[in-house]
Amino acid sequence: MDILFLGPAGSGKTSLVKSFSEWIRENRDESVSCINLDPGVDCLPYEADFDIRKFFTIESIMREEKLGPNGALVRAMEKMIEMEDRIKPEIEKVKADFRLIDLPGQLEPFLFHSGEKIINYFDVKRMLGIFLIPAEMFNPKGLATAELLSLIIRLKLEIPTVNVLSKIDLSKNTEEIESFLKSPRRLRKAIKKIEGGMEKDLAIIASRLVEKIMKEQRIIKTSAKTGEGMSNLYDVCYEVFCSCGDLR
Ligand code: GDP
Repeated sequence: MDILFLGPAGSGKTSLVKSFSEWIRENRDESVSCINLDPGVDCLPYEADFDIRKFFTIESIMREEKLGPNGALVRAMEKMIEMEDRIKPEIEKVKADFRLIDLPGQLEPFLFHSGEKIINYFDVKRMLGIFLIPAEMFNPKGLATAELLSLIIRLKLEIPTVNVLSKIDLSKNTEEIESFLKSPRRLRKAIKKIEGGMEKDLAIIASRLVEKIMKEQRIIKTSAKTGEGMSNLYDVCYEVFCSCGDLR
């Protein structure tokens, strides 16, 4: 199956591709490949079986097309589409039970420029999105934002996604965040209480929406640093594709 790692910049996508791939290799009798679609990364912590940097990098685009880093990232996404006849066959050559796909640190250019076309280079019927909510977002506003972002991803890419807490080793106390995930109603109440910033009416609308879209979900806590949660992450990948799974 093809697993797309999604999440805000710095949420730990690259690190999790490394630790999850190592965990599968060491603990399961299944093959695993890593695919890097981030043309901006300097140094990868894992060995990529396909690496977009073979075709171009953010640096090469900046130099050749005289663009800044953001323009170059948008251009990189366009180039991934323009070069489909060269890129797609290379990706198809990468065969494995699990293909872990690492995306650019900044998700927006992927999501809003080309994501739905690029995912067709993969086995989209057996594709799952893992959306990372990092420890930095373990608060009511952060969790609400993450749930909304995750909804946008499902709308844009039309693939099943699972929300996963990442960098759990950085959080001393996950009790509150777990209680919100178990009870969206509690999260709605917490959002409504947020003072300042958001207008009261807007906060109420947002809190209702978040309550509606949040699914009953198994809480999956991961740390690329300590290796916590890899077995739960593995199980949930199968549950999504199992007809008796309750996540789809
Ligand atoms: P990406 O931009 O989503 O691919 O995030 P990275 O994997 O590049 O990680 C961003 C930063 O967070 C790096 O400094 C990582 O070392 C750090 N990081 C990633 N995962 C973890 C984790 O599980 N625990 C801790 N403590 N740091 C992490």
